[in-house]
Amino acid sequence: MKRTKSDSEEAAQDRDLYSGLMRLHILHHAVEGPVFGLGMAEELARHGYRISPGTLYPLLHGLTKKGYLRSTERRNGKSLRKVYRATPLGRKALLAAKVKVRELIGELMEGE
Ligand SMILES: [Zn+2]
Repeated sequence: MKRTKSDSEEAAQDRDLYSGLMRLHILHHAVEGPVFGLGMAEELARHGYRISPGTLYPLLHGLTKKGYLRSTERRNGKSLRKVYRATPLGRKALLAAKVKVRELIGELMEGE
């Protein structure tokens, strides 16, 4: 696979450390409404996560495999686009994660 500038930037920002946060972010938006790969990459970029399709799609597929997301194909002009929505299991997982994230944020920000 060809390495591009954004790949090395992505590596520098520690993909492993942030992959859980990105998963929760995807799940959050998939609860609110349908998400698709490119739109989600743009949304994550807006939050400062530079993510290539090679990283994003495995995250989406992983969440789908776990039963947190369900994907359907939707026509977008001439091409088909895969859109993802949270399942009831995904909603439940997000609610549980929110409690943990709130606790973590409390600790991280202690004494700041
Ligand atoms: Zn967002």
